[in-house]
Amino acid sequence: MPNKKRLVRLIVFLSLFQALVLLPDLAKAQDESALAPTKTRKLKLFDTEILVNTYRVVKKRKNPVTLLAIHHNEQTGLNLAKEAVKTRGGLLVELVSTRNNRPQRNLFFTFKNKTLCIDPNRIFSTDGIKADLLKRKRATIEDRECQSLSEDPKNLTVQEEQDLSEITKEIERFSVNFLDTFLPKKRCVRNQRLQRRLCKGEILVAVHNNSAFDVNDPNLSIKTYIIGEEEAGPTESVYLVNNEDLDNFFLVTNKRLFSRLLNLYDDEKQFNISIQKQPPIPDDGSLSIKCGNEKIDYINIEAEHNQGRERQRAMIKVVLDSWMKRR
Ligand SMILES: [Zn+2]
Repeated sequence: MPNKKRLVRLIVFLSLFQALVLLPDLAKAQDESALAPTKTRKLKLFDTEILVNTYRVVKKRKNPVTLLAIHHNEQTGLNLAKEAVKTRGGLLVELVSTRNNRPQRNLFFTFKNKTLCIDPNRIFSTDGIKADLLKRKRATIEDRECQSLSEDPKNLTVQEEQDLSEITKEIERFSVNFLDTFLPKKRCVRNQRLQRRLCKGEILVAVHNNSAFDVNDPNLSIKTYIIGEEEAGPTESVYLVNNEDLDNFFLVTNKRLFSRLLNLYDDEKQFNISIQKQPPIPDDGSLSIKCGNEKIDYINIEAEHNQGRERQRAMIKVVLDSWMKRR
């Protein structure tokens, strides 16, 4: 029947249209950050094997920036970092934590039949590890699957003290192994006396995401670093930009990096910046404090999940443009 023929023709045409026009667009969007790891290491944390993926892309112009994504649930930053390495070359290190096929912030492990967890950005000092393990009593949505080490973290029993010490040692061992994947003791030996973890001109840049700032439920934002707030202790000063979202900011480990970022762009393209004290005190076990203590150039690029995506892309670009230009 002619009508039926016409209908079949229309369906064929629409299918072809979808295959030729729509699907490649979709594939392109999904492919934006598609990048296969060049190396995968498995690091033991009690019974759990934690994967550390490294993505290395070699381009003509060398990229001296090592990108890090250590909170696996912060996928916006991770995908932007993959996109950056894919287009500009360089190295990205990704710490993987999944549970029920969902990316997780924390690393999970079993100890004496208990499911415990640790924030991977609190594993870089003994005090940081202990404080993070003991705070699990305050359950959050993210931590709901994570059991507490003690019912009364302020009054540990002798047995709980022993357990805490054993777990801390295991996490410290894990931490050293993880650091070695991107910050080995002797990465750059300039002469026999001087052994450097980074070569001259190289820098570590971590990408993180947070949720929207809310005065009634204050999460991490540049405001957290202002006097009287939670992260004010190790903070030297804070540079705030009018009209910029409080969730999007750089954190730098020294004033030299601050000056460099500030001189990079004109007034219309400024970003919030938090500058860490040297030495940074107190030590919460985060990587920025570790780098501050070891005088390693380190920048943290924080941006809001999803809504902060374009700003985070711009912030990564600013850092790459600058560090790739100087070499
Ligand atoms: Zn994070």
